[in-house]
Amino acid sequence: MNFETFNFHTSVMAGVHALGYTIPTPIQLQAIPPILQGRDVIGLAQTGTGKTAAFVLPILERLRSGPRGGVRALIISPTRELAEQTCEVIDGLGCKTQLRGVTIYGGVSMTQQIRALHGKPEIVVACPGRLLDHLWKGTINLSGLEILVIDEADRMFDMGFLPDVRNILSCIMHKRQTLLFSATMPDNIRRLAREILHDPVTIQIDHTLPIKTVSHFLYPVQQHLKTTLLKEILNKTKTDSVLVFTRTKHRAERVTQQLVREGYRVTSLQGNLSQGQRQAALTGFRNGSIKILVATDIAARGIDVLSISHVINYDMPETTDDYVHRIGRTGRVEKNGDALTLVTGEDGDRIRAIERLLGAPLERLTLKGFDYNRRAPDREVSLSYRPRRPFIPRQGIRNQVAMT
Ligand code: AMP
Repeated sequence: MNFETFNFHTSVMAGVHALGYTIPTPIQLQAIPPILQGRDVIGLAQTGTGKTAAFVLPILERLRSGPRGGVRALIISPTRELAEQTCEVIDGLGCKTQLRGVTIYGGVSMTQQIRALHGKPEIVVACPGRLLDHLWKGTINLSGLEILVIDEADRMFDMGFLPDVRNILSCIMHKRQTLLFSATMPDNIRRLAREILHDPVTIQIDHTLPIKTVSHFLYPVQQHLKTTLLKEILNKTKTDSVLVFTRTKHRAERVTQQLVREGYRVTSLQGNLSQGQRQAALTGFRNGSIKILVATDIAARGIDVLSISHVINYDMPETTDDYVHRIGRTGRVEKNGDALTLVTGEDGDRIRAIERLLGAPLERLTLKGFDYNRRAPDREVSLSYRPRRPFIPRQGIRNQVAMT
């Protein structure tokens, strides 16, 4: 099956060729036809499955004809990074359609965005808070909206954006096609989907399972030896780009500084950085000048860098959903990746939950020659100790997950 099956206009196909796509991914195969028919769709697919193109392509096909010069498609994204990446996909796939996309998110000048909106783009990719600001100020007009996409809905709700999304929805009451994409389907999203989607087609792509191109390994270690072990792993493993996850912003910064001191090309990506710093970190990571990015879950949401060979969980994620999202950063379409997780004695419940999810035990590895019995210097013990909250199984009380 190839992209010709969808009968896209040559201007849309030009974008498919420009991005080098030849074979549609399963989510594209299943989602594109009903979206082209104008149906509402629930897409249960995690990042890395090609879900962005699954909604961008039919949007371009639909908007290619019809009026220009007003917002006709709106994509709501949980993070600025994901918004930027989605807009890049729109620019790439839409390169010959003359349709224009803009991003709207907080942390950057409102005036610049108003100017971009004056340019009358047909597609807007927006984070909820700043979009509401524009709606309230009257600087965006959604009266001509034909397609609404709510992307990564589960993460949107984890981040507390549910009220904002509902407020946005109350501003666009008119008839439209609605698409909702989510890696998981907790109750609050199921409820929202029932309220806002009309007779939706549901498409599910292995939604609870991490992608199959990733190998999973555990490295049991004492808390105070994590950074030393991380450095040893980085020294002894052949890697391309590496994404390291920590549980908090503070820990992301600390691990980054420790790696910088060892001479690694490394930077951090966490919520305390300015938009400019976040963008610089992402650009460096994407173009390969930075080989290691140390990030928190939310900051790393939606990172799409094909050369990520390893995701290293310096800290075990709080939920299995977070595990799935984190490791979805590697092994993306047709590439292999490794997910390495440093685990301590406290992580037993979390490990069992992931093993249940994968349906197989995770392989435990020890690093040859590493001194696992090294005593903790007093200072490191005090730095690394943090009381942890109880493990929250997936689809549990997700809104209480700490936002770091
Ligand atoms: P997504 O799940 O939308 O974040 O996409 C993950 C990655 O897969 C992105 O780098 C896309 O450019 C890439 N991709 C999407 N569709 C295809 C395809 N049909 N063939 C090859 N790569 C693709």
